[in-house]
This record gives sequence, C-alpha cells and structure tokens, in this order.
Amino acid sequence: MSSNFGMVTTRREEAEGFLQRMVSRGLGWARKYSLFQYPFVTACCGMEYMAISGARYDVARFGAEFPRFSPRQADLLMVVGTINQKQAPILKRVYDQMAEPKWVIAFGVCASSGGFYDNYAVLQGIDRIIPVDVYIPGCPPRPEQVLDGLILLQEKISAQTHKLIDHAPPEMTVDGKRDLLAGGMK
Ligand code: SF4
Repeated sequence: MSSNFGMVTTRREEAEGFLQRMVSRGLGWARKYSLFQYPFVTACCGMEYMAISGARYDVARFGAEFPRFSPRQADLLMVVGTINQKQAPILKRVYDQMAEPKWVIAFGVCASSGGFYDNYAVLQGIDRIIPVDVYIPGCPPRPEQVLDGLILLQEKISAQTHKLIDHAPPEMTVDGKRDLLAGGMK
C-alpha cells in the first residue's frame, strides 16, 4: 500500500491501472493506424480530397485510405467543403449514426468557419453542430496540409484514453435475455 498526496492505492489497483494503461496504449496505436473515413464531400475541396487518395500523396501510408459510405462503419468523419443550413441537419444525423469512438476533421476553411461565404445560407463552421478534432485551413488546403492534419489527429488519438468497451452492456429484460434494442439505433 502506498500513499501519495493523501490518496491511498493498493498494489492490486496499481496493477489494474498499469494494465489499463497498456490496453489503452495498444488500442490507441491500433485505432490511429486503422481509420475508416466517411467523406462528407459537398464542394470544390473534394478535388483535393481526391488528390490525397492518389498515388502521389497516398493517404494509404497512414492507414486511412479506405472510405466507408455507411456512417455505421466509419470512425472518421471528414467534412469536405461548404455546408449550407439545409445540409446541417443531415450532417448532424450522419455524425450521430457513427459509433464511438469517432473523430471529425474540418477539411478547408468552408467547413472550418464558412470561409468567404459569410451569409445567412451557409453554416459558419461545422463546430456549431458537431465537435471537431482537427481543423485544416486553406481554400482549398494543399494535400500536404491534409496529411499534416491527419498526422495531428493520429497524435491526438494515441494520447487519448481508450477502453476495450466504450459503452454499458445492454440491460437484461424480464425473461433474463439481453435487451439489444435498449437505447435504440438512431
Ligand atoms: S474552402 Fe475553398 S475550395 Fe474548399 S469548398 Fe470552400 S471555397 Fe471550395
């Protein structure tokens, strides 16, 4: 048993803490190199999105080359281009449909802040409706900037705490079975 600034921990707790840290680091390492992106592409930044997927810039080197077109199979939402007010609820719904853990990149100034579309029809930054992990500046951003943003996100992911199970197990129903629909699918 050891005491540190008034906190008392047992050896068992210390060992569990050590194991949790190791599991967290391992999961962080695995998750940062296996990002499945959902590209929400709406405008001209899409050309640069295509550039990073080609052989010259080759986003596959970072383990993030495989776009998924179902939000339920993706953990990285890349918002590429201008989002107008009518698209905003759709973007929010796509974000809500993604399973945890999930991350968001705002690709270009339009997604980050509305860009030069400072008017009533355009959302002035996607962070008004969903949380953003990395903002990539530029109109459009150069592919090198996009890769820079991706590396930044990978560093952020590896510094986060990861758990084997990120949600509470389903509740038991009266007949003793697990209620898989509890909490509901969105
Ligand atoms: S940031 Fe520039 S290139 Fe990208 S969607 Fe907006 S206007 Fe187009």
